Amino acid sequence: MTAREQVDALGASQVRCLLCAHAPCDCPTFGTPEYLALVNRLHGTSFGGRQ
Ligand SMILES: [Zn+2]
Repeated sequence: MTAREQVDALGASQVRCLLCAHAPCDCPTFGTPEYLALVNRLHGTSFGGRQ
């Protein structure tokens, strides 16, 4: 592994996801109710639902 590859691998594993704030990302599958709930919570709104 080259130094460049090491940096890339390290960076990718340490980048925090904007949605779940986990590294590596721990988000539910895109499009699932769990995922939408996560997005709704992050944005402080509810799409089509009521609080
Ligand atoms: Zn995530």
